[in-house]
Amino acid sequence: MKFHSFLIKYGEIGLKGKNRYLFEDALVRQIRYALKDVDGEFDVHKASGRVYVDCDSNYDYEETVESLQRVFGIVGICPVVRVEDEGFDKLCENVVAYMKEMYPEGNKTFKVEARRSKKNYPLNSMELNCELGGVILDALPNMKVDVHHPEIKLNVEVREEIYLYSEIIPGPGGMPVGTNGTAELLLSGGIDSPVAGYMIAKRGVTLHATYFHAPPYTSERAKQKVVDLAKIVSKYTGPIQLHIVNFTDIQLYIYEKCPHEELTIIMRRYMMKIAEHFAKENGCLGLITGESIGQVASQTMQSLAATNAVCTLPVYRPLIGLDKREIVEISEKIGTYETSILPFEDCCTIFVAKHPVTKPNLERIELSERNLEEKIDELMKTAIETAEVVKVK
Ligand code: ATP
Ligand code: MG
Repeated sequence: MKFHSFLIKYGEIGLKGKNRYLFEDALVRQIRYALKDVDGEFDVHKASGRVYVDCDSNYDYEETVESLQRVFGIVGICPVVRVEDEGFDKLCENVVAYMKEMYPEGNKTFKVEARRSKKNYPLNSMELNCELGGVILDALPNMKVDVHHPEIKLNVEVREEIYLYSEIIPGPGGMPVGTNGTAELLLSGGIDSPVAGYMIAKRGVTLHATYFHAPPYTSERAKQKVVDLAKIVSKYTGPIQLHIVNFTDIQLYIYEKCPHEELTIIMRRYMMKIAEHFAKENGCLGLITGESIGQVASQTMQSLAATNAVCTLPVYRPLIGLDKREIVEISEKIGTYETSILPFEDCCTIFVAKHPVTKPNLERIELSERNLEEKIDELMKTAIETAEVVKVK
């Protein structure tokens, strides 16, 4: 069946009162972004409190639906057949043709739900429901009307044209990116952080990202892997500005000056500080990590507290209560898993101690960091100044 439009259903954002138009505008913008590379011409617009995607020319249906299913804020996608208003008899014909094509087996329960925004239409909504219901029963005698729990709800909307739709394809939910501020994602090449970014973006937050690498200990391919992950995440979020920070000298210096079992924690603290620098520079309101309680030594409650202590911005950890299995499931669903499990080392894995502290004491850590003296500030400054900025889209 050829659909001429998609009616976009949105949930939470419908509730936003006076700010509603901001949410709708963001939704329209994100839909346009999502459809940018899809074959076909699309007109995304608002009309009488609804968002529509019109696609009158040829387009790739599967690809269009898949792209719309990545737009946060969309709760349902309804493929619409638009027909001209050429009188009631013609409408009956069109409705029967629609039902026959959509439900060729013809043995379902249904209900007609008519609405008129064109108030001068000769039949009112109740009359349309009854008449069209009767016409469908005549044409498809194995169908049954069920007004309470129909399997098919046929919507008939009379406007300048008449819109027919009955199918609702689920969207991802959430809120359109751009409606809830910006946050800085610490993005590694692992499984967790892309999922963490996805989850926060789903609440309407625009993402920036920072990746720390340690050439020549980490390869160009490890870096490319992170860029690729950011690309996959950006299919949902829109463009992401990615800072790639050369962390080698800082890591080597910490390695030289601090107890090796504290290395990971101290490194993580410097990562947070640098990420926070970029966050503030870009007006971000928080940091995002892929940490989950107890997953590794650096993610015990004590370790998280020690890492958190250097941050002044809130740190969002959307995976905090998830098991690895649950995180893997999301990463498979969003399409980052296959890339995340490619075997290239990120910088943490190379300098890990055999027996890292699992219950770091903040005072001890701070004491160890005194060994780093002023030189660490110099190194941080250089790392920040030499960071590469990639606009991922
Ligand atoms: P991930 O799968 O996200 O890499 P992980 O299980 O490997 O997480 P850690 O290495 O302890 O866990 O990292 C915890 C979090 O710190 C990551 O989720 C990420 O947000 C951040 N992080 C770790 N390494 C880096 C890095 N090289 N660059 C940027 N952020 C990092
Ligand atoms: Mg990691």
